[in-house]
Amino acid sequence: MPPKQGPGKTRLRLHEFLCQQHETILQKWEELDRETLASAERLTSKDLRNNLPDILVDLAEQSERTPASGRYINFEQKGPQHHAEHRWKLKFSLEEVTREYALLRVIILQLLSPRVGELPQGELVFLNEGLDQAIDESVSTYVAKANSQLQSEQERLRATLTSITDGVISTDTGGHILFLNPAAERISGWTQDEAIGRPVDKVLVTEDETTRKIRDSMASRAMALGEQQSAGGITLHQRSGERVPIEESVAPMRDTNGNDLGAVVTFRDISEVRLLTEELTYLASHDALTSLPNRVLLHDRLAQELAHAERNGTRLALLYLDLDLFKKVNDVLGHGAGDELLRQVAGRLVHCVRRTDTVSRLGGDEFAILLSDVEQESIPGELARKITKRLSDPFVLHNDTVNVSTSIGISLYPEDGRDAETLIKHADTAMYQAKAWGRGGIQFFTREMNRRAVERHELERSLRTALEEEHLSLYYQPQIAPASGQLIGVEALLRWHHPEKGLISPADFIPVAEESGDLMVSIGNWVMENAYTQARAWLDAGHTPVRISVNISIVQLRDDRFTDFLDELLQRFPLPPELFQLELTESVLMSDIAGAADRVRRIKEMGVAIAVDDFGTGYSSLSYLKVLPIDELKIDQSFVHNLHSDVDSAAIVQAVIRMAQSLKRRVIAEGVDSKEAMDFLVENECGGAQGFYLSEPLPAGVFARQYLAGVGQ
Ligand code: C2E
Ligand code: MG
Ligand code: MG
Repeated sequence: MPPKQGPGKTRLRLHEFLCQQHETILQKWEELDRETLASAERLTSKDLRNNLPDILVDLAEQSERTPASGRYINFEQKGPQHHAEHRWKLKFSLEEVTREYALLRVIILQLLSPRVGELPQGELVFLNEGLDQAIDESVSTYVAKANSQLQSEQERLRATLTSITDGVISTDTGGHILFLNPAAERISGWTQDEAIGRPVDKVLVTEDETTRKIRDSMASRAMALGEQQSAGGITLHQRSGERVPIEESVAPMRDTNGNDLGAVVTFRDISEVRLLTEELTYLASHDALTSLPNRVLLHDRLAQELAHAERNGTRLALLYLDLDLFKKVNDVLGHGAGDELLRQVAGRLVHCVRRTDTVSRLGGDEFAILLSDVEQESIPGELARKITKRLSDPFVLHNDTVNVSTSIGISLYPEDGRDAETLIKHADTAMYQAKAWGRGGIQFFTREMNRRAVERHELERSLRTALEEEHLSLYYQPQIAPASGQLIGVEALLRWHHPEKGLISPADFIPVAEESGDLMVSIGNWVMENAYTQARAWLDAGHTPVRISVNISIVQLRDDRFTDFLDELLQRFPLPPELFQLELTESVLMSDIAGAADRVRRIKEMGVAIAVDDFGTGYSSLSYLKVLPIDELKIDQSFVHNLHSDVDSAAIVQAVIRMAQSLKRRVIAEGVDSKEAMDFLVENECGGAQGFYLSEPLPAGVFARQYLAGVGQ
């Protein structure tokens, strides 16, 4: 697998790598088996390294300074030249010098290979070109050295040039070939006999890789300017008509008095290096399992397409996909089947899109599809539906057939973001939303979604802290019998004292806690335990017993440990269980009537009372009232608030009171905030009232002083 990389992660830069690994590279290089480098055998470490450290430093600095392509590498510290001069003195053959660089290249690539995926594409090419350039300079240095020696030395040079793998051609001042080494014969396809005396640019015919134009002679240029010339990105026309990519470098030759002698052309076939580079680049940018582009390549393509879309005023869409039941396939059928499923999904996805679109795998069971040039607004949605349908067909994995579904989130350029990261993030957010609404969903990103996602996340985090740091408390709101004015019960209501935001209403944070599940269970347990402890404390203080109600979320009721927890509470602080009441909303009771019914009966068996909160807002079916052992109905505030302005509300309140009476259930009106409402309840013989007109929810101490003080003492 290529290394995974998050979109925001900084990539590895070549200069960083060379600086960090500088010493390791040199150590490993020293440790190499030097069988083929006889001259190096007895050198000290210092002599062995010689100018290589400078060469690495120059490479690092230049890769930091210059853009990754199309630059000429200049060894400012003249490392390769000094290295060659030193080696010349030590009587290294030129072949040995070039081999030293070959070993260095191998070491660097080996160290780099685990992280090559993090390296921007052009940097690897830069590295290779830099090392090639160092070899060129060594060759030139050797040739220059040899030229300044006696005839016998030139013969030695000739012998040396014969053995190296780089092509070397020397010319006279008119550019006619004087000498061609065997490597040059092999690469160009010309023999010495045929080539000698011909103009060098008739033997080394090269074209520019990009423009495909035949290039002018570099030898003439190098001689005219009196300085070395190098070029990459060129193709050599071999004598047979074949084309090979090469790198070429030409240096003018002068005698000791500075007179021009001609030029030395060095060149090498870079097909292999290029293949290696391409292979590494491919590995770094593709997912090994599905061969789809990976996150890194998706980012690059997205950046390119965004630039294109901005220039041309076109639109883009990004689809973020997640398989719904992938984990199950992996767990049940094993990783082999999981891998096979991912490959087949990749195949189907590729078939769903145009050739210009990019299907990529982001890791795990997540895929992204980039649609460029979205001409009609309907296209992304249509494609998402097509994909959902294609992926819902069964997959055959070895001997098993499995069904999966996909959730898809979609973000659009320019509406939902103008850079790659934002578009990916927003498509991901939309995907989560799609998933939250059930399997096989498709969801377009909306601004609202993002803000909510961020806020919820933040709220959930601080709510967890609030629970740990005891920033939660319970307030108590009295429930009064309208006819007599007597206290008949109290509802415990949760409060969050936020250090910066002040009091936060449970209506704002309960839904967030519910979404995360475990947090709601912890908070719910905290509430039950505290309310229960409070009830016990009031009893112990000698107050008249008062029924205390706590609100229960559906998440708590669904939790398997709920009834056990309640049971344990009843054991721990004995309290007449009828003094404890749980409030459940209609929607909770109805959402899973069979399961809820069992739990509600269990609760009832323990002796704990049950109230239906917000009665009248949930379901039109009242059948559950007969099925479930319910003690109390709490008429929703919306009807009570409107008693005097809305005839229907008044009729509903009356009807609920009558129904409760005939079913022999207690009834309490919530949200009583005026004298008129209270009068209406007295008149209609409602059993209980709760609301701001009577009292707001109060801290425990205040509540006890105002409503319990003196009672029973
Ligand atoms: P609820 O159970 O229906 O509680 C009654 C809500 O109405 C309380 O709001 C109370 O302060 C408010 N209220 C009481 N009298 C009046 C009135 O005359 N006029 C108006 N406008 N409002 C009145 P609160 O405390 O903000 O709680 C809101 C909701 O949050 C509760 O509605 C309940 O569903 C939920 N909640 C509160 N505490 C808990 C808890 O411990 N656990 C769970 N799961 N939910 C809770
Ligand atoms: Mg309530
Ligand atoms: Mg209510």
